[in-house]
Amino acid sequence: MLSVFASLREKMKKNVHIISLGCVKNTVDSEIIAGGLESAGIELIDEAEDADTIIINTCGFIGDAKQESVEVILEAAELKKKGKLEELLVAGCLSARYRDELTKEMPEVDKFFVTEDFKRIFEHITTKPHLADDPDHKRKLLTPRHYAYLKISEGCDNVCSFCAIPLMRGKQRSRSLEDLVEEARSLVKRGVRELIVIAQDSTTYGWDLRPKRYLHELLTELDQVDGLDWIRLHYAHPSHFSRKLIPVFKNARRIVPYLDIPVQHASTAMLTAMKRGLDADGLRRLLLNLRNEIPELKLRTSVIVGFPGETQDDFDTLLNFLEEIQFDRLGVFTYSEEEDTSGAELEDDVPPDVKVSRMDQVMDLQHSISFNKNQELIGKELDVIIDSTDPDVAGQMIGRSIWDAPEIDQVVYISGEIEQGAIIRAVVDDAGPYELYASPKN
Ligand code: SF4
Repeated sequence: MLSVFASLREKMKKNVHIISLGCVKNTVDSEIIAGGLESAGIELIDEAEDADTIIINTCGFIGDAKQESVEVILEAAELKKKGKLEELLVAGCLSARYRDELTKEMPEVDKFFVTEDFKRIFEHITTKPHLADDPDHKRKLLTPRHYAYLKISEGCDNVCSFCAIPLMRGKQRSRSLEDLVEEARSLVKRGVRELIVIAQDSTTYGWDLRPKRYLHELLTELDQVDGLDWIRLHYAHPSHFSRKLIPVFKNARRIVPYLDIPVQHASTAMLTAMKRGLDADGLRRLLLNLRNEIPELKLRTSVIVGFPGETQDDFDTLLNFLEEIQFDRLGVFTYSEEEDTSGAELEDDVPPDVKVSRMDQVMDLQHSISFNKNQELIGKELDVIIDSTDPDVAGQMIGRSIWDAPEIDQVVYISGEIEQGAIIRAVVDDAGPYELYASPKN
């Protein structure tokens, strides 16, 4: 009996280091794991070398991300071989997708968990029953405390032919509108000023709820949450973008004029092959209408080049479209075949060097678009949220404008010593292709 308590006490004294890989939805999952463990008295530490237990929340999206996850697991396994680590736990998308193979190939890993496996991870480490009915309220933010992600749903009902996410995250499961508003309020109490709304497809939010709810209803409610300054919307799917969202953006007090809407391509042949649910005309009409109805709206997108069957004409159509729409922020990826996706049934016939050359051409175009747009901001005033001090330049801060999401968009370098999380009015003094230099307005 005594030994049982001794091992329980031993388990409870453990400290844990969490490594969060992949997308911001995984970040939220890692925050839920961290929050649950901390609320159970488990010490969370920053250094892997000093940890008793390491939890790696992996990514399994595309080749490079999978490779990174495997390398991080092997690094942690080395610590275990050296006797510096007691327990190695692996969770997240790579684990959900390849658990059987990984179990065989990585005996150093003590246990594999799947995505959103909060309860089992909690119970495994704390040996306590997981009671909390809504772990989100126990999130331990891994972001700077002035901004946080709000994951409004998990999983995806779409069937984009290049994407393995539904294989790892399952069908869409929206959280209740009331829960999300309550969580937004609790995040504000913890110092959050900027709320970043995320999902696999945010525009189908609530379609799986009974009765159905809709993104425009949720955003309207979040826009009433006192204490929030900025609300930012990500992962809008062009074929699910409701017209009801336009007045929400127009009349909003806190929703910033910024929209992340991945288009993936612009030729009808490619959009059809990618199973994106709309054609080139539909896409153009939507974006031109958004530009027309909300002139101050900045658009972020991402595109894939080198999808099976992409001809030079398809690619030229994409380039012309990017020239026409002039996206404010853009990410580009080369197609990588993912097994078990419908895309994997197609011949991956675009040579690797052609994929890279097409990606470079998109980047070159976007570089000049972004440079020209930034030049037009010189002398203009804008609001900037301060994220951190500049580690390279003393007396300079790094911030973001309302048109920049953390980690993926541009930065604003601000002269002076300013409190982290402050939102200040600044004047743009100079601009580069992907950064602005500004001074606080007197
Ligand atoms: S919307 Fe498409 S690309 Fe996005 S997660 Fe769903 S299936 Fe994948």
